[in-house]
Amino acid sequence: MGMSCIAYANPIENARADEIYQLFDSGKFLPDEDVTQMLSEYKNSLASDDTVRQQLHTRLTCWNLPADNAEQMMAAVAFADEYLKIYSQPSPSLIQIDLQLCKTWFLHYLGKNDVLFADLDTAINNAYLLEDPRLIADGRSIRGTILSYMGNFSAALEDLITAQNLYETMNLPYWANVNLGELANSYRRFGDAKNALKYQTKLEQYYLQNNQPFAANKISNEIAMSLEELGRFQEAIVRYQNSRDFLLSKNEVIAAADALVSIGGNLINLNRLNEAKSVLNQAEKQIKSDNDGSYSYMNLYLAQVHYQLVSHTQALEYIQKAEHAFRYSDNARGLNKALRLKSQIYQSLEQWPEAYQSLSAFVDSHEALDKQIMSDRNTEMQTRFNTNKIQTENDLLVQRDKDKEQQLQIMQRNENMQIIIIILVAIILLIVSIFAYKQLMRKKLFRRLAMTDELTKLSNRRDTYSQGKHFLKVAQMSHKPFSIISFDADHFKQVNDQHGHDIGDKVLVKLASICVSMMRETDVVGRVGGEEFLVLLPNIDKTNAIEIATRLIENIADYDWQQIAPNLAQTVSAGVASYTNELELSPLLLKADKALYSAKAAGRNCVKA
Ligand code: GH3
Ligand code: MG
Ligand code: MG
Repeated sequence: MGMSCIAYANPIENARADEIYQLFDSGKFLPDEDVTQMLSEYKNSLASDDTVRQQLHTRLTCWNLPADNAEQMMAAVAFADEYLKIYSQPSPSLIQIDLQLCKTWFLHYLGKNDVLFADLDTAINNAYLLEDPRLIADGRSIRGTILSYMGNFSAALEDLITAQNLYETMNLPYWANVNLGELANSYRRFGDAKNALKYQTKLEQYYLQNNQPFAANKISNEIAMSLEELGRFQEAIVRYQNSRDFLLSKNEVIAAADALVSIGGNLINLNRLNEAKSVLNQAEKQIKSDNDGSYSYMNLYLAQVHYQLVSHTQALEYIQKAEHAFRYSDNARGLNKALRLKSQIYQSLEQWPEAYQSLSAFVDSHEALDKQIMSDRNTEMQTRFNTNKIQTENDLLVQRDKDKEQQLQIMQRNENMQIIIIILVAIILLIVSIFAYKQLMRKKLFRRLAMTDELTKLSNRRDTYSQGKHFLKVAQMSHKPFSIISFDADHFKQVNDQHGHDIGDKVLVKLASICVSMMRETDVVGRVGGEEFLVLLPNIDKTNAIEIATRLIENIADYDWQQIAPNLAQTVSAGVASYTNELELSPLLLKADKALYSAKAAGRNCVKA
């Protein structure tokens, strides 16, 4: 079933052929076998020199090719291409235009919306060149339908309203109604579901009265979508269910599976998650990725269900499929929803960078969509005011003030939405920064831990040496003095043996604190071994360093060690070394160690240099 063309004046009489043509063009539903049979009857009835009707036959054939799966759709595109080659001259021609339209329609079915516009625009331009109102109407109706599907509402409305005008002027009620259905869809898509419903209900009555059950079923599905938009989910489900039953009775298995997806979506809206899941799982068995309209929404809903049932990993798998499918078919509205859910899933998975990324993609796509909706409103207002000829819109014009008010409300709602998005982004940014801050703090903590000695809280060996190297470099460059004191607890093994390891620890802590309390802020005291310490004294010469070391061992020896354990006494021995012309730290350390060794040898509790 597709757009086709009225017969043009033809000197050769063929009443039966024209009758068949009219039947196709009236939009009456024909079962597949009748389509095949009547197309061949049409063809067989043609005189060999009746080129006009032969071309019409090709056009009818193209529009009536089966399109149940991607393979058939591609075959249809190939059919159009084949005949476009045959009818390449003269150009432009009616058949060329119609075949181009037919081809773009199948490309749309295939989701290849990005490549079809070149052909589609050419076809429409050529229809204007040939001043053929019917092909202009068909072209603009098709382009409007595709643009509306892609979310480009202002351009869509311009096309659809022009087509509507033409179909009504040409008195083609069937095609006027098909187009009106698309207009209603556009209204729904940009948020005016109430108006959409008004047209759709009229159309449904028309189709039912005229005994066009397939068209009535299609519009019933569209009514269900409007109901969904208005939050009337239960009514929508009933319609989808009826549609499914109808399609199954007509053996339209694939379309019937599509209804399952819609039912699933509405069950989610009603928070009947487990029912939704089982319905969607049923759909999953029947809907292949080449059915990209249903496939994308099915995956979106499956992701939603799993997200709400807290199986986030599965949700992520589905949302990725959905995103891919929406991108593939250029469905801006669907993609927008998918990106938002994806961000939520990543948030739940605490994958913050990914959550942030999806959220900003969502914001971008939302803004793009928003701009289109905003400009639509303007176009829509203008076009509505300029379309007095469209009878079906007359009653709308009467209440245009009311509509204006409603449009203002929608704009307001959109503004609110933007504010919500800004807040959302701010929250995410805050969360991300809190995490980043925490991570920074943790890093700092780790660094501190890596540099300090746990028992005494002094710099550890590595850090002390690294600071020592730094001081040495400064001394080398500034020609200022630099001294070090290496000191070691005397007979410490005995302390452990006599008083226990814990007391030993306390002694080490005390040694550290006595030493630190004596040094300047700029000096460094480090624990470089078990009971061995190193003091770095920048700007201190040898004489001063010996004095400091002497005071240090005196203070330690004078300390009342009984406070820590009865009968405890503790002394240290110290070796002093000062920078003369050492290139590295280690020779300086060696000097201090040698001095310390001689202090030990000299009987301990003394300083050597
Ligand atoms: P000297 O006067 O020659 O330095 O004799 P010393 O006993 O102090 O020297 P030695 O090197 O023989 O023994 C050092 C002892 O220090 C051995 C070890 O049990 C103890 N020690 C090393 N680290 C720690 C520690 O963290 N806590 C405690 N309680 N004891 C420690
Ligand atoms: Mg010792
Ligand atoms: Mg020692």
